[in-house]
Amino acid sequence: MLMKRNSILMLAIGMMAICIGMAACNNDSSSKDKAKTEAKVADADHIYQCPMHAEITSDKLEKCSKCGMDLELVKKSEMKKAEVPAVKDSTKK
Ligand SMILES: [Zn+2]
Repeated sequence: MLMKRNSILMLAIGMMAICIGMAACNNDSSSKDKAKTEAKVADADHIYQCPMHAEITSDKLEKCSKCGMDLELVKKSEMKKAEVPAVKDSTKK
């Protein structure tokens, strides 16, 4: 009788441990997601830039006014340079 009670108690503790473990895991992943979204904010070193149009930049996440793509967060030091259209060539024609 005592043995059976003990095993049931152990089982209950085991179940609780699994539940707590799962809850901890869930909390972990949600806090990670939160950190991820929080990190996606332009600061002094980062700026949003269209992957297709280097001249389209913003300090917040928005869509490119030219192609409608989501701007990507890039380091200012790693920004693509806006390509200046070669005006010379087109006028020469
Ligand atoms: Zn664009």
